[in-house]
This record gives sequence, structure tokens and C-alpha cells, in this order.
Amino acid sequence: MAKKEFQAESKKLMDMMINSIYTNKEIFLRELISNASDAIDKLYYKSLTDASVGMNKGDFRILITRDKENRILTVEDNGIGMTKEELEQNLGTIAHSGSLDFKKDNKDENIDIIGQFGVGFYSAFMVADEITVITKKYGEDQAWKWQSTGVDGYTIEPCEKDTVGTDIIMHIKPDTEEEKDEYSQYLREYPLYKLVKKYSDYIRYPIRMEVSHQHLKEGTENEYETHTEIETLNSMVPIWNKSKSELKDEDYNQFYKEKFFDYDDPIAHIHTKAEGTATYNALMYIPSKAPFDYYSKDYEKGLQLYSNGVLIMDKCPDLLPDYFSFVKGLVDSADLSLNISREMLQHDRQLKIIAVSY
Ligand code: ADP
Repeated sequence: MAKKEFQAESKKLMDMMINSIYTNKEIFLRELISNASDAIDKLYYKSLTDASVGMNKGDFRILITRDKENRILTVEDNGIGMTKEELEQNLGTIAHSGSLDFKKDNKDENIDIIGQFGVGFYSAFMVADEITVITKKYGEDQAWKWQSTGVDGYTIEPCEKDTVGTDIIMHIKPDTEEEKDEYSQYLREYPLYKLVKKYSDYIRYPIRMEVSHQHLKEGTENEYETHTEIETLNSMVPIWNKSKSELKDEDYNQFYKEKFFDYDDPIAHIHTKAEGTATYNALMYIPSKAPFDYYSKDYEKGLQLYSNGVLIMDKCPDLLPDYFSFVKGLVDSADLSLNISREMLQHDRQLKIIAVSY
């Protein structure tokens, strides 16, 4: 089978990323889970209008499996899957040239380039020396296997897969002399659990993994036995839908740091709920210092806009007056129609009502 080379630019970026840009290797799991969740969203929305999909919301899940002996970690979803062409297109080229230039221009900034520039999948090469993707697109009969050991290229061949969806199978790198647990931690239950809680707690589909529990053996007083069970790790309910009394300052601050990629706690937060002419939840933060590009013309103000927990716009400028452009946060409103386009949304009456009401 012929090995296809990654595009030149992809090679450069991938090499930079794997070897130097990103020191925080653990984010690979967040990236793969987010991709899995996006893929499930796509099939879920299809299922709402197309009964032949034959899936209910409760059927969707992301499954993490680990095989310590063979150093294999798998993230599996039953989302939309990819065709051969999509595999080539999506995993054969790294995002846009903009991400490379951006990083070059901002050498000193500790920027989360992966999350923001659509190269999430490749972050898995920070922890894996070989990745196999097995995928079957909804509506297709043929499944495909994509395989790569990193910068040198990839192969694609037909394969067998019974169900629709995607399996990302990672062969985890060996540990280094300096750090005994550098990569092996990603094969252990607890570190994986912690990572899911830290980064992916609000993913709206269950993230499931086999978890072991110790309990007292029946009829004994100090003999323990272990049993394993597949459990859902994430809480799924977005923090802003919880009531204020359930949340502590630390919860709000933790959420802020993860969501808005800040290392410092915010100065203050405002959590409001409104019902009536406009129904929404808003969670806003005042950062402790100005964003790095705040005084440049590139700075975009805005709040994230969600509709029922689904992100529909990353920076909605209409939700913030100019004099509050430093505010970070989000608004979630069930009143917004998911079908409306970005332009139409900006002129949405509901949006105007929300903007003037908090
Ligand atoms: P991003 O997710 O930011 O667009 P990625 O490099 O992570 O960038 O992924 C590139 C593309 O590959 C995605 O936009 C998506 O179309 C496709 N993709 C990745 N993972 C999956 C998956 N699990 N199921 C279906 N498609 C996927």
C-alpha cells in the first residue's frame, strides 16, 4: 500500500507541535473527546429529522478503553464517521497556514494553538507513536482504516467495522529515562478519569470507561475484592445550568480557567438566570488582567453564545457593549433557533432583548 505524505505545511506544523509547541501533553484527550462529541452531534441532529438513523439520544456515547499490556488507548464514538475522502481531507492536512504564522508571530505567548486552530487530532501524536483510525460513515457500507506513525505520512485502506462511528486507537509511547510515568499514566484509570473531569466534564454525551472498585468481600471483615464496571465519568450538566447554591467560587474559577485559557483566577463572576420575555442563563467573568491582544485591532469582544448547551457562536459581539469588551463569558438561551445563520442571529430580536437585560 502506498504511503501518502502529509502536505509540506502539515509536516512542519506537526513536527513543531509534537516536539516543541505544546508542553501540556494531556490536552490530547480533550481534543479527541471534543471531536467525538462533534461527530455525535452531527449524527444526533440527523436522527431528529431522519428516523432511519435509528438512534435515540440515550444511545450515543464516547467510550475510552485501555490495554495496559499492549500500551493501547482507544477513544471510540458512535457518531457520524468519515468517508475515505473525509479521512484524507480531515486527517491528511493540518488546518490553515494561519496557525503557523500566528505561532511564529507570537513566540512569547503561551497560546493554546491546538484548541484554537483546528489541529486537535494531531495532538494525539504527542503521546502516541502510532495512531490507527477506524471509521465508518453513516449511510456507507465500507469502513476505512487510516494509519500513521507521525510526520512521515499515512496509509488508508478498506477494513471491516460493524457499526457507524470512529475508533481512534493510539499506541502510547514508551516512558523516558527521566520520567518513568510520562506516557504510561495515559494507560491508567485514575489519570484518565481526572483528565475527563478536568477538561470534558460538560460534554453532553456520556464518556464511559471501565472503572474498578474495591469493596469488602461478603462474609469477611478485612478481605477486599475488586470489581470493574463501565461507568459514565462526566457530569454532563453545564455549570451554568446548575443553581448558584450548588456552586462554590472555586467551581466558577476552575471553569473560567479551563474555558478561557487563563492561568489566573478572575476578579469576579456574575451568574444570572432570566425567565420571561427572554429566557437565558448567563455566566460572565472579569479577568484579572487584560488579554494579550486587548490593545490591538485584532481583539474581538464578545460572549460565547449557546443554545441549549450547544455552542453556536464563539464571540457574539452584540451581547457586550464596547465599554465591557474585556468581559469574558457566555450566554445560553433556549429561545434561539439552531437553524438561523450567523448574520441572521445578529439581528435576532431575542438577542437584543438579552443584551439589554443584564
Ligand atoms: P477540528 O476538530 O478543530 O476541526 P481536528 O484536527 O481535531 O480539527 O479534526 C479535523 C476534522 O476531522 C474535524 O473537523 C472532523 O471533521 C474530523 N474528525 C476528527 N475526529 C473525528 C471523529 N471522531 N469523527 C468524525 N470526524 C472526525
